[in-house]
Amino acid sequence: MDLFEKCKRFYYEADYARSLGYPTNPRMAQALGLYPFFIPVDQPEGTEFIHEGKRFIMAGSNNYLGLTMHPSVKEAATKAVEKYGTSCTGSRFLNGTLQLHLDLEDRLAAFTGMESALVFATGYQANLGTISSILGRGDIVVLDKEVHGSINDGVSLVKANKILEVRYFRHNDMNSLEEVLKSYPDEKQGKLVIVDGVFSMEGDIAPLPQITGLCIKYHFRLMVDDAHSIGVLGQGHGTPAHFGCTGKVDLIMGTFSKSLASVGGFIAGKKEVIHWIQHTARPFIFSASLPPANLATVLAALDIIDREPQRIERVNEIAITIKKSLNATGYNTGGSQTPIVPVLIGDQFKTMRAWDLLFREGIFTNVALPPAVKSKRSLLRTSYMATHTSEQIDRVLSAFEKIRKIMTW
Ligand code: PMP
Repeated sequence: MDLFEKCKRFYYEADYARSLGYPTNPRMAQALGLYPFFIPVDQPEGTEFIHEGKRFIMAGSNNYLGLTMHPSVKEAATKAVEKYGTSCTGSRFLNGTLQLHLDLEDRLAAFTGMESALVFATGYQANLGTISSILGRGDIVVLDKEVHGSINDGVSLVKANKILEVRYFRHNDMNSLEEVLKSYPDEKQGKLVIVDGVFSMEGDIAPLPQITGLCIKYHFRLMVDDAHSIGVLGQGHGTPAHFGCTGKVDLIMGTFSKSLASVGGFIAGKKEVIHWIQHTARPFIFSASLPPANLATVLAALDIIDREPQRIERVNEIAITIKKSLNATGYNTGGSQTPIVPVLIGDQFKTMRAWDLLFREGIFTNVALPPAVKSKRSLLRTSYMATHTSEQIDRVLSAFEKIRKIMTW
């Protein structure tokens, strides 16, 4: 069969897409008005945007603190472009390191309470680079079943050489974690546990006090992906700070694409570990460095997190209001403890239909379908920002109330 035959079939044939596990093919979903992806968001103002001339409330962004539109963040980005230009056009190893990269790395190390930090071009690359450089032949990695895809991809980069043992434990289940860990008593092996601090789809928090306890007991190192916790938990400093257990976490990974209002990522840890990653992580070595505007944005955003703690309080308060009201209306919001509030629906088509009804009401949410979530656990991923007004929150809630009446499940 020609290499591109599958693409043609996926484009034209709903049955073929179904045979691959999709509910239908994207073009069929579009024709049915049930395609919730790649919606162009024009004139974004943070909490609202325009699409095809109509105004929408954004209830599906990771801009938790609303900093993409903060005047001092925008000013920092603009000034950086004026001073340094638009790009470094090269790898950090070669021509791509500015003093700003080093300043940001020092700042992130202090911010997370670690010795040292390294900035990557995306959060995805931070996971890919860290995991593939730190793990190798004969090592064991133990993952929560619901870690982010970039963690699994990082592990696959190592697994490609068939030299790594990969084990999973049931999501946030400490008995399951202990079962796995205790089967590796050998202290001579390299052993790592990786969890998300806050899980990206359902907004629940990893129980780090128990996880760190088990890691210490069974001599495993621990890496936490804090993409959704920075700016939200621990006075904005993340999950280890939230639980007061920073000293027991070996590696903290974060992204700039959420509360930090930019794009990019980082890993923080002991100085010799970060030095190793810096010299061996291929996604770091063979990719151009983060542009100046992004670096300046993140530095400004970190300042605001410490200067304006009311933003963190506000976004967490909004999440509590939303959860209470959605639950009262009869929606299942799972175990969310953060500004990510999932609305669990289950069936893929029902989820897409609910998304469409909300969209018609002027509310933008995100649809999470397999493989992003387990099968039969499709959901609307709603998420909130410190800058949402109470009036906007009321409009989101009344739209949910209205569609609950319209939809006969
Ligand atoms: N980790 C988690 C938990 C994430 O949710 C994401 C982004 N969705 C990433 C890593 C990757 O980050 P980025 O989008 O900055 O590449």
